[in-house]
Amino acid sequence: MSDSDNWKIPASTDQCARCSAGLAVDDEVTVLLSFSEEGPNREDLCATCGNNVDASGSDVFWRHKLPESAVASPVVDYALLREMFQRMLPRSEPIYQRLSYLVGLVLVRKRFLRLRGFERREGEEVMVVARGAGEPSFDVPAPHLSAEVLVETREHLKRLLAADLPSEDFEGVTALDAEEGSESGDPVTSAGSESQTLDES
Ligand SMILES: [Zn+2]
Repeated sequence: MSDSDNWKIPASTDQCARCSAGLAVDDEVTVLLSFSEEGPNREDLCATCGNNVDASGSDVFWRHKLPESAVASPVVDYALLREMFQRMLPRSEPIYQRLSYLVGLVLVRKRFLRLRGFERREGEEVMVVARGAGEPSFDVPAPHLSAEVLVETREHLKRLLAADLPSEDFEGVTALDAEEGSESGDPVTSAGSESQTLDES
């Protein structure tokens, strides 16, 4: 195993990743995601360090005022998750393949992607998905994830999002759930179900 360990530092939105200055609610924070060979990494930076960010081609960065929720109860940013998926999917390094697969499963679960099935291509398992009905299919690598690797990959994702994906997002991650052991999963709520019955008049 030669994967970089720097992502194992817990996600922090209350301290600048470079100078350790405290970050408070309403401070301007620069979030930088970089995608090196060692795997994706996230840094939350104070205004000063953020101004020195020189993002290379594949990096993503944005500035925002640190919201209350980032400190109190982190919210999963699914737009960010989809953006990350786009950047990670073309990469061939195992760490990107594992993350792409896990994120792909979550996006299927959240109905951002449609699952068309699993197939083997040149001995490798792939998950075939599409962005919607009538859209072209594409492959997402589907490497076998041991329970241990699954937990590690999920932790990595948690750090990138600076938020923990709710356990229900992983429901239907067939077989993987069974191996994962029972982390205290939140009860499934019906929040987010689309049952709009409003008429325009
Ligand atoms: Zn700083």
